Amino acid sequence: MTVVLRTIPEARRWVRTERTSSGALGLVPTMGSFHEGHLSLIRRARQICDRTIVSIFVNPLQFAPGEDYESYPRDFDRDLSLATQEGVDAVFHPEAGEMYPSGLVTSVGVGKLGEALCGASRPGHFQGVATVVAKLFHIVQPDRAFFGQKDAQQALIIRTMVLNLNWPLQIEVCPTVREPDGVAYSSRNRRLSAEERSRATVLYRSLRLAESLIQSGERNVACVEQQMQKQIQKMIHAVPGAEIDYARLVDPATLGGLQQIRGEVLAAVAVRFGKTRLIDNLSIKIAPERQARG
Ligand code: AMP
Repeated sequence: MTVVLRTIPEARRWVRTERTSSGALGLVPTMGSFHEGHLSLIRRARQICDRTIVSIFVNPLQFAPGEDYESYPRDFDRDLSLATQEGVDAVFHPEAGEMYPSGLVTSVGVGKLGEALCGASRPGHFQGVATVVAKLFHIVQPDRAFFGQKDAQQALIIRTMVLNLNWPLQIEVCPTVREPDGVAYSSRNRRLSAEERSRATVLYRSLRLAESLIQSGERNVACVEQQMQKQIQKMIHAVPGAEIDYARLVDPATLGGLQQIRGEVLAAVAVRFGKTRLIDNLSIKIAPERQARG
């Protein structure tokens, strides 16, 4: 039976009684509206932890005014039954007022990592993410926490926060789970029209295009980025309200732009379909012999 914890004292009490001396406590932070991506993190946590707690909290701090905080899909009853099916031990589902009573003046800064890629069009977003994750880590004190590669920038920022603030826990980043046509599962996909959903396949296709260009020897960053943008533009130009936010190759450690393509690069894309913004990314490792020639 999955226990539902709605307040911070309840969560702390549960952690005190359930944490065993030998086994690890795993935390899977989510905003709910579960799909296969979330379930993959939960399954991984269940596999390697003794107890698993999943947080379901649509965090107002990471949405700017005018973004989709109000309309973000929420379906707690369905999420809870999926969590129960998956054998989750506890779900932490606080109200916004429980997490942010009033007068919040302390937050976690994330520096330049928070300004790259999605940070450029969502200023303050990653500070909001880091702050809520820091609060969850303090409340739950997990031994391990699970994040998806789908949100590569978020995962890097959390890893960096844990390292910089000496948090005694392990971050595990799990692979992106995709629908059969390659579209990464996202709670926001359900808000796409049929036309937008079919066009959304271009995100992953543009990442695969970048990969194939690089693996066949292309070493010009601007050239790869232009090809990605061209492919996306071709697919979305007739869809009202659709536009590219970015299609970039960046350094996976700093998210900064690249001078050269070598070692490992992160191809990352974000496309808006009206108010719905989709993101995806692919890590591309350049085979050593190709690197030597390039
Ligand atoms: P969210 O509820 O969107 O905040 O996501 C909660 C966690 O699930 C984050 O760590 C995401 O990176 C992860 N996640 C979301 N979509 C996917 C996916 N398609 N594959 C793997 N992980 C995902």
